[in-house]
Amino acid sequence: MERKKLVIIGSGPAGFTAAIYAARANLSPLMYEGFFSGPPGGQLMTTTEVENFPGFPEGITGPKLMDAMRKQAGRFGTEILTEDVEDADLSQRPFKVKGKQRTILADSIIVATGATAKRLQIAGAGDGELWQKGVTACAVCDGAMPLFRGKELYVIGGGDTAVEEAIFLTKYGSKVYIVHRRDALRASKIMAKHAMQHPKIEILWDTVCAKIEGKEVVERVTLQNVKTKEEVTKAAAGVFFAIGHTPNTTFLRGQLETDKQGYLSVKSGSTCTTIEGVFAAGDVQDKMYRQAISAAGSGCMAALDAERWLSANGLS
Ligand code: NAP
Repeated sequence: MERKKLVIIGSGPAGFTAAIYAARANLSPLMYEGFFSGPPGGQLMTTTEVENFPGFPEGITGPKLMDAMRKQAGRFGTEILTEDVEDADLSQRPFKVKGKQRTILADSIIVATGATAKRLQIAGAGDGELWQKGVTACAVCDGAMPLFRGKELYVIGGGDTAVEEAIFLTKYGSKVYIVHRRDALRASKIMAKHAMQHPKIEILWDTVCAKIEGKEVVERVTLQNVKTKEEVTKAAAGVFFAIGHTPNTTFLRGQLETDKQGYLSVKSGSTCTTIEGVFAAGDVQDKMYRQAISAAGSGCMAALDAERWLSANGLS
């Protein structure tokens, strides 16, 4: 079985940044970029314009940015396998990483598999319907798009993300509605207070979104009061799902410690997980910031941590 000094699992900004650093440090990293588990390139592959990634004053589309990162990782010699990791055996070193087609022995691993924004399965919100045509799961990524300017926007959810996204969207929309299925927010008190006091935000309590409609882009939402079952249809230009994320860790089979929501635990100020030689970067270990640039930063940290660990253990 082929043995590698470093295997990187995941191909978002964290994975590619780790690959660039590790390849330049002569670690000849091998990356599993995924295939069926999600688009190679990660969540940015499903966004449009990225205007907050430094270095691109005119903005850049998510897919173009990821393509550039992939090329940069390849230029320094990263080997990229377009397949999913189905299983990882971390019980002994070298670790065993089992892809759909190839299994590799790894002296060290960087897990950068990201998190998947949860989507609501409601009429009109699917792929091929209005998903990414006004329906999104990331206000920070998509909120500044022209189609949302001066329009009525709906954020679904009642946690900190929903409130944060709603506040963010007040910069663009004429009015932002938070649609929450209960009569109390899950968000922290301070965030909830900000939302409730904001002149452009209205919270629709005990309400769910039942249907999203529009010809080319979102034009209307149908909302249902869960107590009275009453339905109302309103004009809308954007629907933002903010109902949480799921970190992508199934293939690890619980071998690494996580927090209550399933995010990988790392030693404070580092990317070290609870197993020596296994590092975690990007959204799979970050429920707080979740930005391309912060993921890239932690990918850099993971490569440096891995390089130092390999060297300290005579494996570099
Ligand atoms: P979250 O706290 O899990 O909240 C998810 C929200 O979505 C909940 O209000 C939930 O309703 C609602 N929801 C879930 N499934 C739903 C469904 N099928 N239909 C309708 N509504 C649904 O997730 P989050 O807001 O993304 O936050 C995740 C973590 O990150 C939290 O620990 C949060 O504090 C943290 N965070 C912090 C900040 C900050 O401090 N600035 C910002 C963002 C996130 P219920 O309340 O009824 O369950």
